[in-house]
Amino acid sequence: KDTINKIAAGEVIERPASVVKELIDNSIDAGATDIRIEVEKGGKNSILVRDNGCGMSRGDALVAYKKHATSKLTRIEDLDTVSTMGFRGEALSSITAIAKVEILTRPLEEITGTKIVIHGGKVLDTSDAGAAPGTSVYLKDLFYNTPARRKYLKSDRTELAHITDTVTQLALANPDISFTLLSEGKPVLRNAGSSDLFKSIVNLLGPDTARSMLPLEYRTEDFEIRGYISKPETTRGDSDQLFLFVNTRPVASRGISKSIREGYYTKIPKGRYPVAVLSLILDPAEVDVNVHPRKAEVRFSREKELGNIVTSAIEKVLSEHAL
Ligand code: ADP
Ligand code: MG
Repeated sequence: KDTINKIAAGEVIERPASVVKELIDNSIDAGATDIRIEVEKGGKNSILVRDNGCGMSRGDALVAYKKHATSKLTRIEDLDTVSTMGFRGEALSSITAIAKVEILTRPLEEITGTKIVIHGGKVLDTSDAGAAPGTSVYLKDLFYNTPARRKYLKSDRTELAHITDTVTQLALANPDISFTLLSEGKPVLRNAGSSDLFKSIVNLLGPDTARSMLPLEYRTEDFEIRGYISKPETTRGDSDQLFLFVNTRPVASRGISKSIREGYYTKIPKGRYPVAVLSLILDPAEVDVNVHPRKAEVRFSREKELGNIVTSAIEKVLSEHAL
């Protein structure tokens, strides 16, 4: 059973950034408004994710790390309309199987918190502990018990770059939540939560990028698209940088990425690429997030139609800008 858990864990947890993503997802699902991430050595030595969300009672915390423990999907039909980031109940079990983990958690209404120490899937200690309301998950020595996997990790710098990307995506997807990322105790990213996506773009992608972007808002009966796209004259030379969110979930979609580029067609020369931060809002029943365990690539039931709308929305903004 241990082996099966370790293998399964590999599918969800590929590298430190995967841990960071799963823990932030949990914090978002817990209703956190402030999420702090601290990493050492690109997350290989340690990762801490602390939130001010709903916390867990001791009883809940003691089952949360078990495989398929989830408080989020109660009926199988919910799979069609899942609105939480997590729903498989796999992240905590995967993470605790391949690292040395300390979970410290406290629901607002309780006086003391709970601390649980789990190494390689085994609970070593459970105790009362003083804690602020919310949850912090601290892990050390990722993949310590699967040396083959640890060997595949890249340099600290590369792993930190993946973590920074992950946090940037999630912070852009949730501009109302405060995010802080520290590496070796030094700030890497910081975005105080606000209702203003533009402020988040300034904080997370930099003022120069922010200044070079145009707001986009487009609505049809079934779809809503909102965000910012780069002006054609300020595109990048290396590759495009697309941040795509579907109902606030960061996703990848080859189809939609292509539609974004098509919106720029004839507007930018070959070899220039746009930056776009776009949020699609649509009926969750039209989205299949369940394609992949890492939940990255999505499918849409009306992908062609949606793609055409994205292209038109971009064409419209760009032609108004050209006037
Ligand atoms: P899932 O997110 O798919 O439900 P996880 O393994 O990620 O599965 O988490 C298991 C359960 O642990 C969650 O359903 C939730 O009840 C609880 N949990 C995990 N992280 C947190 C957190 N940061 N705050 C509150 N509850 C949490
Ligand atoms: Mg989860």
